[in-house]
Amino acid sequence: MQAFETLESNVRSYPRSFPAVFSRARGSIMLTDDGRKVIDFLSGAGALNYGHNNHQIRAAITEYLASDAVVHGLDMATPAKLKFMKTFSSVILRERGLQYRFQFTGPTGANAIEAALKLSRKVTGRQNIISFTNGYHGMSLGAIAASGNRFYRKASSVSLSGVTFVPYDGYFGPAVDTADYLRKVLMDESSGIDCPAAILVEAVQGEGGINVASKQWLQSVQAIAKDVGALFIVDDIQMGCGRTGDFFSFEFAPLSPDIVVLSKSLSGYGLPLSMLLIKEEFDAWRPGEHTGTFRGNNLALVSATAAIDIYWRSRTFSQGVQRMGELMQGRLRAIASEYGNAFAVRGRGMALGFDCQMTEIAEATTRKAFEKGLIVERCGPVDRVIKFLPALTIDSETLNQGLEIFEKSLAEADQAGSNLTSAVLSHSK
Ligand SMILES: *Cc1c(COP(=O)(O)O)cnc(C)c1O
Repeated sequence: MQAFETLESNVRSYPRSFPAVFSRARGSIMLTDDGRKVIDFLSGAGALNYGHNNHQIRAAITEYLASDAVVHGLDMATPAKLKFMKTFSSVILRERGLQYRFQFTGPTGANAIEAALKLSRKVTGRQNIISFTNGYHGMSLGAIAASGNRFYRKASSVSLSGVTFVPYDGYFGPAVDTADYLRKVLMDESSGIDCPAAILVEAVQGEGGINVASKQWLQSVQAIAKDVGALFIVDDIQMGCGRTGDFFSFEFAPLSPDIVVLSKSLSGYGLPLSMLLIKEEFDAWRPGEHTGTFRGNNLALVSATAAIDIYWRSRTFSQGVQRMGELMQGRLRAIASEYGNAFAVRGRGMALGFDCQMTEIAEATTRKAFEKGLIVERCGPVDRVIKFLPALTIDSETLNQGLEIFEKSLAEADQAGSNLTSAVLSHSK
């Protein structure tokens, strides 16, 4: 690790939480170069929903590479792109009664968020974007302006503008419907909040602490967007591609967003690929008005098509994710109950959060977990929520092993902190 410290910028972050050199990986297991086997419950922050080096998906890209087909073609027409759009339209969209046009943006999630915000502003002629407390949308200036976290906002070192933040579902506890507040301030000609070009929301906030919005709240927010003439954008970058059990995180509501933003697990293989799904009536771009060198990388489109073919042609995979998610949630709740429910368990599908209430407990637990062979990350405003994002393809044995490591690590963290949990309990009373 010494060489990394001298060569790589201070900005590196995950090597600090997981100090090892990772040389190989397959499914839910990563191997370090000193021969350790580590279970991965982070899955590339949700970019590896189908596991590391998924061999079924890999077969499609190896074949593509071997055939000298076009890998980089800017946004030129290729058979790989056409096949992806046709497959996605028929297997994912048509099955769900949705119809969208595809816009391939630069390869990162933030690239796609920028495009979505820019398009909404262009369509409506308005500037303001409504975003939510604890929202996370990426690191470029437009995306960071719509993200809540002060640490990231401060690091941008410029004034971030064009966004108004409103409370997410549950921000004031279960008794307050924050959608009522949103409706009121947007309808009020004198609330001080400018008419928005878009309302940008995550159905489950990933980085923000695994905060789950209810069906009713999401439906209200969608209705409000319509009533005030704003585009309704769902950022499904982390929670899409099956993470919550369905392909889209908003299917359960069910919503019909004007723009859906996808990235992370879209390519199915950890290759960078991002896109917008845009309702045809809002596809107001003029040719070439938004561009980029790495749009719709063909290799990533090939793996993305393979992932859909393999996992989404029947309901079996989705049902499996929901079942596995319930098992995980049950297990985490049982662990929380051993501590007199000092901790909260939240989530949907296989996106689960264990709120340790105190940063110290969460930090010590994830550190000990890594020593014992489990990669699990923290999230939320003060990094006090442990985030469980195992691959959706994980087998139950590996899942249970990982959960056991977590349980032991939490117990040790609790003891080392001389029963920090009792402090949590007395604090919450
Ligand atoms: C990761 C993420 C982004 C940003 O994606 P990058 O590829 O890191 O730019 C945006 N929104 C959500 C919800 C994310 O989880």
